[in-house]
Amino acid sequence: MVRLIRLKPRVSALGSPLLTLAPGSWRAGKEGSTARGYGYRWQQARERYLRAHPLCCYCERKGEITRATVVDHKVPHKGIESLFWDESNWQPMCKQCHDGEKAREERDGGGSDLCKAMKPRPQVPARTD
Ligand SMILES: [Zn+2]
Repeated sequence: MVRLIRLKPRVSALGSPLLTLAPGSWRAGKEGSTARGYGYRWQQARERYLRAHPLCCYCERKGEITRATVVDHKVPHKGIESLFWDESNWQPMCKQCHDGEKAREERDGGGSDLCKAMKPRPQVPARTD
């Protein structure tokens, strides 16, 4: 009687056209579930983000290549929408790191911004003229 449907690990939506939504332009109003944040809009944003940032930044820091499946909030958003939707507050993580290291670091004192810390941007000399 139990019928298990096997879900493919790979989302078949990889070939789907990217929606280009300007932030806030699409039903950014109060929808009730927005407060929890994990609605349809988040799914879209999350998928788009993970396509652009496919590797777990924690693993990368350790020299490992792991596919990221979680978009983590560096600073816990605690339901604050501006924090929740701020992409500069996001980092790609695998589930293992998210449930392990990240949780530990949050206990040790707030959010973390390790991805930024581990990847110094190449310095481009500014033109002065
Ligand atoms: Zn990881």
